[in-house]
Amino acid sequence: MEGYDLLVVGSANADLVIGVQRRPAAGETVLGSDLVTHPGGKGGNQAVAAARLGARTALLARIGDDAHGRLLLDTQRAAGVDTVGVLVGGAPTGVALITVDPSGDNSIVVSPGANARLTPGDIHAASALLAAATVVSLQLEIPLETVAATVRAVGPGTRVVLNPSPPALLPSDVLAACDPLVANEHEARYLLADHPASEDADPAAWATALLARGSRSVVITLGAAGALVADRRGHVHIPSEPVDAVDTTGAGDAFTGALAWRLGVGDDLESAVRFAVRVGAVAVTRPGAQQSFPTAAEVTAPGE
Ligand code: AMP
Repeated sequence: MEGYDLLVVGSANADLVIGVQRRPAAGETVLGSDLVTHPGGKGGNQAVAAARLGARTALLARIGDDAHGRLLLDTQRAAGVDTVGVLVGGAPTGVALITVDPSGDNSIVVSPGANARLTPGDIHAASALLAAATVVSLQLEIPLETVAATVRAVGPGTRVVLNPSPPALLPSDVLAACDPLVANEHEARYLLADHPASEDADPAAWATALLARGSRSVVITLGAAGALVADRRGHVHIPSEPVDAVDTTGAGDAFTGALAWRLGVGDDLESAVRFAVRVGAVAVTRPGAQQSFPTAAEVTAPGE
């Protein structure tokens, strides 16, 4: 099997979006706009983000044997993702039903579908794929036991990047494998729920507490303020260039996909985060999630 800079193990969803003037009350029907269908899911998003930048990327995920699944496979392949690890069947493709009101607020119902059927057995059956990757990137839209099985199955030479989204408490050996854990404010505070640092306003305090809990390194994403990188030697804040943000959907996935790729090609963590901050900043200047992710040529150096 060929080598991969990055293997993303995670979710793939079809996002079904309808604009509404207002949401229906119980028992009521409202008319909305034409349906727009986007490829999504945090795993699929990260894989597309990395591949579009030029990473040798593979995706390990589960989709349904249906039209949404075929759409997701097509868009992954079009971005350059190797889909040899995408398993088909067992349940319908995961779907997010999204209504957007005139103020831009979303209401979302997610049916995990096939994502919930990605099992530890599927991970063990993909051992050759795991062995071929320099970095393995995970999120929490697949069963936690499958995330844990993945972390336990990777070899000592493989780096694990984990974004705890949607937030859940992690087994201690999973947290101890994260290098880095990539969390936004909400996720960091959730993981620290019973820790005094969760009340602190300073992201460095969250990072320090997460390191003390066992994570090898920590990246806190800070939206327009960029990101904070921390390991046992200390922490550094990487600011973002100011940009006109139009849509932050998927910015965290673009950031994490880019970060994981740069680690996979040998960057140190701080350099990888500097690059990922620039990728996130481009992604927010364009509408949508996967469609907003830049190529490497579109990611400008600071000051350009
Ligand atoms: P978040 O998950 O919102 O913290 O965003 C992830 C990353 O995307 C951040 O670390 C930034 O690199 C980038 N980003 C998000 N929002 C903005 C923004 N308004 N301006 C510039 N970059 C942003």
